[in-house]
Amino acid sequence: MRIATFDQRAVIVTDDGLIDIASASGGRFSSSTDDLISRLDEVGEWYVTTDLDLSLELTPDVVARDPRLGPVVSRPSQIFGIGLNYRRHAIEMGMTPPTSPLVFTKFASSLAGANASVALPSPHTDWEAELVVVMGARARRVAPGDALHYVAGYCVGQDFSDRDLQMSGNPPQFSLGKSHENFSPLGPWLTTPDACDEPGDLLITCDVNDVRYQDSSTQDMVMDVAGLIAYLSAVCEIRPGDVIFTGSPAGVGQGHTPPVFLAPGDVVTSTIGGLGSLRNVMTRATV
Ligand code: ZN
Repeated sequence: MRIATFDQRAVIVTDDGLIDIASASGGRFSSSTDDLISRLDEVGEWYVTTDLDLSLELTPDVVARDPRLGPVVSRPSQIFGIGLNYRRHAIEMGMTPPTSPLVFTKFASSLAGANASVALPSPHTDWEAELVVVMGARARRVAPGDALHYVAGYCVGQDFSDRDLQMSGNPPQFSLGKSHENFSPLGPWLTTPDACDEPGDLLITCDVNDVRYQDSSTQDMVMDVAGLIAYLSAVCEIRPGDVIFTGSPAGVGQGHTPPVFLAPGDVVTSTIGGLGSLRNVMTRATV
């Protein structure tokens, strides 16, 4: 099942169109994806056992490009970002792959829909396509073997990064540099685990205009999704709707020689096999 926030309402994205969950269920379910995130098993059961009319006939390809898409969740209690979690990316940044995860946050006000435009805050703004995990249940001190049972679904994320601000502290503190307006698009929709391939074996790419800069697989992750959930939940209680940006593969702009950064007019397309694409246009800074 694919769940999206479309025109600020929770919908199921079918091959033929959208089903407005609150309307079609006669109010049994909320119109908010944030409210539904811990009830997706129930929503899925209802969806497969009920004869439902489409609210809007739109194919997934058209939906994915629609500016009415919002972030799949908008009120997470926590957003975790993981740095240097792909082996080849750690090496391109001049680091050795970490032995324990490098964890930062992206503040929730930076969340955006799949097609949000981004006003560039610095001449050194970079891209990081990432597999994003959205959690569906409370979890504390879970074992890696149980961790995936707490996942609501997976989507594509972009961890836009203002490298100037990210590296300006001594020692550097990543979170603000990754939290400018629309720096955290999530989408195009959430794919529930039953409809998703093994999260450790997904193709992930990022194109800037017509150039493919990132072309990798989640197989290159240093710590896999289950390991990350176990590691984080050993410290923080994970709550429904919480978001984990699981790190970016090799091919970010700063990893190139000479480095490449985003300019107004650039189009960043982030794609994960089976989960869809984000398309974000860069604009000139507003301040
Ligand atoms: Zn990242």
